[in-house]
Amino acid sequence: MPVPFNSLKVQLTPCEADLRAAFERVLASGWFLMGPEVAAFEAEFAAWLGRSACVTMNSGTDALILALRALGCQGGEVVLPAHTALPCYHAVLAAGCTPVFAEVREDTCTLDPASAARMIGPDTRAVIAVHLYGQPCDLDELGALCAARDLPLIEDCAQSHGATYKGRMAGTFGALAAFSFYPTKNLGALGDGGAVCCNAGEVEGALRLARQYGESSRYHSAVPGVNSRMDELQAAFLRLRLGRLDADNAARRTLAAHYTALLADTPLILPATAPDREHVFHLYVVRAPRREALMEHLRARGIGTAIHYPVPGHRQPLFTQGRAPMRADDLALSERLAAEVLSLPLYPGLEPEQVQEVCAAIRAFYA
Ligand SMILES: *Cc1c(COP(=O)(O)O)cnc(C)c1O
Repeated sequence: MPVPFNSLKVQLTPCEADLRAAFERVLASGWFLMGPEVAAFEAEFAAWLGRSACVTMNSGTDALILALRALGCQGGEVVLPAHTALPCYHAVLAAGCTPVFAEVREDTCTLDPASAARMIGPDTRAVIAVHLYGQPCDLDELGALCAARDLPLIEDCAQSHGATYKGRMAGTFGALAAFSFYPTKNLGALGDGGAVCCNAGEVEGALRLARQYGESSRYHSAVPGVNSRMDELQAAFLRLRLGRLDADNAARRTLAAHYTALLADTPLILPATAPDREHVFHLYVVRAPRREALMEHLRARGIGTAIHYPVPGHRQPLFTQGRAPMRADDLALSERLAAEVLSLPLYPGLEPEQVQEVCAAIRAFYA
C-alpha cells in the first residue's frame, strides 16, 4: 500500500459534508470578506487559545510581517533560529528588519536561548521563537531573556496549534503570537490564512488598521497598511476544523508514539519531547544516517518523505549572494541538521498499518 507523505483528501474526509454546508452558508450570505464568519472565528480562536484578541490575516507570513511592524521593529535586527521555515526570515526582511540567525538546541531543534542571548545587540528589536515541528521552545528562558533586555518575544505558532508548555498553551507567552492556517498545518484552511493573537488593546488596534489599508473609518487612512484580509469561506472552514483540532492533535500524538516504538533500536535519532511540553507533531522528524539513500529506498516502495529544511537561513543564496543583509552565530548544528533531518508521513487519517509499513521499510534499509 503506498504511503503518501501527506494527504489533505484523507484528512478532510471526515468533515467533507460539514465543509460543503459551510460553503453553502457563506454563498447564501452573499458576504465574502471580513464578515460574520471572520468575526466569529476570531472570537472562537482567541477563546480556544486563551488570549483576549485574535486578528486574522491572509497568511502566516503576513501575520509575522504585521506583528513586527506593529511592534515598531522597522530598521532594527530580529533574532530568530537558522533552522526554520523560509517565511520566517522573509517576514523579517519584508518588515524592514535584518535577520540575525541563532542556533537551535540539539534535542528539540528549537531556538537555543544561549545562542539567542549571544546574538542580541544594541539594534535588536525582537526575538522570534519558532515552535518548530509542533513543540514549544524554551519559553521560560526566552521570556526571561526578552524581559531582561526589554525586547518583545514573538511566538511563531505556525506549526504548534494546541501545543503546551508547562500546561499552558503556546501562543500565550509572547507579546504577540503569529499563526498560519496554510492547508497542511495542524489547523488548516482550504487556502491561505493567518492570524496574530495578542492582548486586546493598542497593538491589536494597530494590527486591525494595518491589515486593511490603515483604514480608520471608511475611505480614511490613518497609518500605512496592506490588504491582508481573511475571507469568509476560510473563516467558516476554520471554525469547523477548530472543533476537531484537539482530536486531530491526539491522533497525531498516537501515530508519533507508534513511530517512536517501532523505530527504537534503529540508527535513526528520534524526535525528543521535553518532559514539560505537549508536542502536537505537525511533523515527525528523525535524523537519518545516509538520508538521501534512505529517501530513495522509501520512494521506491511508494513511501513519501520530505526534508524540513534542507538549507538553513544563513546559507540561503539570498544571503550568501549578498541580496539581503543578515548576521549569524556559529551555526554548525543547524548545518548538520539540514543534512540529516527527514520527515516521515504523519497526519490524521494515516492508518497505523501504514506507520508499520514505513517502519518495516526503514528497518530493512538499515539491516
Ligand atoms: C507555514 C509557516 C509560516 C508561514 O505561513 P504561511 O501561511 O504559509 O505564510 C511561518 N512560520 C513557520 C514556522 C511555518 O511553518
